[in-house]
Amino acid sequence: MHLLVTGAAGFIGSQYARMLLAPGRMETAADVSHVTVLDKLTYAGRLDNLDVADPRLTFVQGDICDPEVVDRVMAQADQVVHFAAESHVDRSITGADDFVRTNVSGTQTLLDAALRHAVDRFVHVSTDEVYGSIETGSFTETDALGPNSPYAASKASSDLIALSYHRTHGLDVRVTRCCNNYGPRQFPEKVIPLFVTRLLDGGQVPLYGDGENVRDWLHVEDHCRGVDLTRIGGAAGEIYNISGGTELTNLQLTELLLKACGSSWDQVRHVEDRKGHDRRYSVDDSKARTELGYRPRRDFEAGLAETVGWYRDNRAWWEQLGRGATT
Ligand code: NAD
Repeated sequence: MHLLVTGAAGFIGSQYARMLLAPGRMETAADVSHVTVLDKLTYAGRLDNLDVADPRLTFVQGDICDPEVVDRVMAQADQVVHFAAESHVDRSITGADDFVRTNVSGTQTLLDAALRHAVDRFVHVSTDEVYGSIETGSFTETDALGPNSPYAASKASSDLIALSYHRTHGLDVRVTRCCNNYGPRQFPEKVIPLFVTRLLDGGQVPLYGDGENVRDWLHVEDHCRGVDLTRIGGAAGEIYNISGGTELTNLQLTELLLKACGSSWDQVRHVEDRKGHDRRYSVDDSKARTELGYRPRRDFEAGLAETVGWYRDNRAWWEQLGRGATT
């Protein structure tokens, strides 16, 4: 089975591609014989996140908004897993153009091609941010969408377009909505790698507002398992929430990161809050647990320690990158 994976030079997609093809690969990936990666290589995409020497992997540099390249790669594909997106909320606040273009129009370009080439199934990877903020309790898949940032709104739009291709055209579309991911190879503009790389350099880290915003954290490997369980065992037209079960305020997260990096609160600088900063995200993933057998496997503290260790051991990966969109 030939799988097209978009955005797999980025943080989560590259983890997924590695887990599809690694020697002891994820048990759900047994049907995958070839992976084509379509990625534009924006600032967030890196070819060295992938094993391009693997003959089972074809890398195509291209834009998901370009109908010609999309048509060419879709013609080879039996199934699609779609990660490609502009993914950083802060960037969507300073300029939303690329978010609407890639996340909305790009997704629609892929869906059109998927329909034309009658692909077997299309997994659209989305986010818990599409539901908006919730003070207590957790959103289920049937709750209304209430995105607040331009990033979340562009992802919500792409979810609706993807689902419309199922309802209108009968395309087998499945949507996942996952909480915050952490792990190796995340671009150091997102809070965990931003803080870790700065602390490892003995620098200061910027903490938004009162630090009481709550996020639910999941190791990237567990997210990838959830995505592949959806590909294998999900149903057409269905949405699956994926959660981590580790809710932390940003203050609590900062405390853990300071400890892991051997740093102190002197290195934390309180900065003005992000515009429209959602207070808390939380999704109920009972459906994925019951219907797909999804369970996070990675322990948060061990996973975080390993992630900090990865950034400590792989300075060459991040030292050359521009950082600090969050400052
Ligand atoms: P990322 O920013 O690390 O990677 C995105 C990848 O998409 C990059 O390789 C980039 O080059 C590529 N890309 C961007 N625009 C493109 C275009 N027009 N054409 C082709 N490729 C393009 O993002 P990530 O954190 O790996 O997120 C992957 C997906 O998972 C996104 O859809 C995101 O919304 C979703 N998601 C992320 C998280 C998280 O915590 N990071 C949580 C839930 C869902």
